Amino acid sequence: MTSIDAQRLKTDLINLGNIGRRPSGGLGRTSFSAEDAAARQWYFDRCAEAGLEVTVDGIGNLIVSSPVADELTDPTRPAVWSGSHIDTVPDGGAFDGALGSIAALECLRRIHEEGMALARPVRCIVYADEEGNYAHLFGSRAITRGFPRSELEALTGRDGDRFVDTFTAAGGDVDRAANTVLPEGTIDSSVELHIEQGPTLEARGIDIGVVTGIVAVGGGTITLRGRSDHAGTTPMNARKDAGVAAGALLASLPDVAAGISERAVITSGIVTFAPGGANVIPQAAHVTVDFREPTAEGIAALESSLIARAKEIAAEYGLDVDIDFEQSVPPAPLDEQVQSIITAAAEERGLSQVPIHSGAGHDSQNIATVAPTGMIFVPSIGGRSHCPEENTDWDDVANGGQILLDTIIGLANR
Ligand SMILES: [Zn+2]
Repeated sequence: MTSIDAQRLKTDLINLGNIGRRPSGGLGRTSFSAEDAAARQWYFDRCAEAGLEVTVDGIGNLIVSSPVADELTDPTRPAVWSGSHIDTVPDGGAFDGALGSIAALECLRRIHEEGMALARPVRCIVYADEEGNYAHLFGSRAITRGFPRSELEALTGRDGDRFVDTFTAAGGDVDRAANTVLPEGTIDSSVELHIEQGPTLEARGIDIGVVTGIVAVGGGTITLRGRSDHAGTTPMNARKDAGVAAGALLASLPDVAAGISERAVITSGIVTFAPGGANVIPQAAHVTVDFREPTAEGIAALESSLIARAKEIAAEYGLDVDIDFEQSVPPAPLDEQVQSIITAAAEERGLSQVPIHSGAGHDSQNIATVAPTGMIFVPSIGGRSHCPEENTDWDDVANGGQILLDTIIGLANR
């Protein structure tokens, strides 16, 4: 059985974790930013150093192959894919996405170094903008469903920039970006290693989570519209205050979620008031919402319940309301055969494993719509993620990398 180089995996994770480091200790590698470009360049350098070849597709996903391994197989056959993302949320940690990206690279390096003859080619992937600065699970969506040019033109980032401007400035070609759906049969199967980003594995003392399915995700913006007035001269009972109504909406989110199921969650991460003056009653409140539920019926019910609540609150405060939600990403059951290959690999290596559901969205849920797909989770210390404290024990990193390699080989030879 071939082993990964756990020390090299660790060193790479530490080095990548120093790119885009902020004074807070968190990472800021927003997709297509200068920091993201530096991380991608670092990744290119690692591939070049290892003798691997990288191609960049129209939307900015990186696809890595081994000329040595391809020589020993039929490279035109559908390939086994493995990878994740190296962009981060605005103050993120060093493991989310980075682990799955570097571990996939480590696996391909080992296959390359050993000159391993496999029945299928293996590709290592870094998906662009997983964290959804422009759109949810952007890079994987682009290759599975695609974006028409008109939709790309309408996308804006967290900082209000237009995708087409930022992408062009970063060297992208928008015409190519609009035509990136992969031909059928490109991917044979796919497996992604990721940190759990929750507390279950650590609390139960389990080494490996075998992911059974990924949560459905919806989201967008609710805008409450009232009237701007003087903060001093307008009596409290004569106001159309969009800010106060937004507060009522936020306070009601736990209730809306509880009304659907125990696993339903709603988060509002950004609220902005317009025109935005300390002594001006807000005319508009823009409230972002991110909502998730494991089932297709649940996500639809959650969406309608949220819309109904926003309308109720708008009516109560005498305001207008606009709802602008993206089409929700459906829940993704993961492939049973891939799950059993992961489980067998863990058993063979003497690691404890348990089936687990993913409450976080991942590129694998888009890939699962075109090919058999699986995911491997390793424990997150304290269950923390999307924050500077995000951490995983180095032994768990090594275990995850090893099970990933065993699974890739299993998929390539099955
Ligand atoms: Zn991630």
